[in-house]
Amino acid sequence: MRIARLDVFACCLPMKKPVKMAAELVTRADNIFVRLESSDGVIGWGEAGSAPAMTGETVESMGAAVRFLAPSLRGRDLSDVEGIIAQMDRAMYGNKAAKAAIEIALHDCLGKTLGKPVHALLGEKRNPRLATMATVGTGNADKDVAEASALREAGYTQFKIKVGIDAPERDAARARRICEAIGEDCTISADANQGYSTEGAIAFARAMAGTRLDFFEAPVRADDLSAMAAVANASRIAIGADEGVHGMGDIEAHAARKAAKGMALKSIKLGGLRGLVKAGALCERLGLEINVSCKTGESSVASAAAAHAAAVLPHVRWGLSVTQGGLAADVTEHPLTVERGYLTVSDAPGLGIAVDETLIRKYAI
Ligand SMILES: [Mg+2]
Repeated sequence: MRIARLDVFACCLPMKKPVKMAAELVTRADNIFVRLESSDGVIGWGEAGSAPAMTGETVESMGAAVRFLAPSLRGRDLSDVEGIIAQMDRAMYGNKAAKAAIEIALHDCLGKTLGKPVHALLGEKRNPRLATMATVGTGNADKDVAEASALREAGYTQFKIKVGIDAPERDAARARRICEAIGEDCTISADANQGYSTEGAIAFARAMAGTRLDFFEAPVRADDLSAMAAVANASRIAIGADEGVHGMGDIEAHAARKAAKGMALKSIKLGGLRGLVKAGALCERLGLEINVSCKTGESSVASAAAAHAAAVLPHVRWGLSVTQGGLAADVTEHPLTVERGYLTVSDAPGLGIAVDETLIRKYAI
């Protein structure tokens, strides 16, 4: 079986409500979808959300990258996943989100062809049922507390509070209220999306000491590893890295500088599922915690892909952040379901989801 066709669609999916982060208010999801057709007529789908501030890629650039890569991939043996990844990296530097969309579509198509779930193509299933992380991000304390309490009531045990959007003391006051409202037996994180100065991040960490906050993600500019290390050194709360992790070297650098105790792994940053799984194995070797996450607003395609990768990792103690639940419209016949905060990884062939192409065309831009 060979790759016969690669098509790319740029879509704009509506969100249920905006997510407030340090540098942006996410009101819609601009994502690409890759449709990969084999010589046998089997179709696989992949997705990548645009995150210009994280990956440097837009839907336009990702579309151009997929179209640039497609000719050198057509005719290649579907089962030679590593060879296809190597070919993409030879042909084009960077553009990891675009490559991830192709690589996910390849896994979906290969899995359907072989009658195997994607997790079985990636490794041994160790985490069949994953706790998913709920994001609390209205930016308003009363609304955040109400939202977090409702999610806790609905069974969620993993929470991410968006901070870095106000003065550190005010963010901390809001985060403390949320921590108190959620109750026991939960993992709680705060994500500043690089929104604080070093002093501000340390002030936030100190203000949160004694609360049940488990980790504090992306406190400062991700490209300033010295600042990350300074915050990590001053904080009793574990620091997590996200925007600064684009490959194995970044993970090693954070560990060597003691700049973080855990990593948020995303296919759009790591070039796909194989990159994500390799990064997870490296984290385990270095004693780092792992969060597997989607970009805010990715649909059931990328969310299912993230779940398959998380299923084979040694551990996902910092949770799985799937994002399809935040969308007002998905592109699959039956969007991925999270039951009482947990997601059960599909054993159906491929990603285990059915993309509705009429929806792709409906939301295409
Ligand atoms: Mg993050």
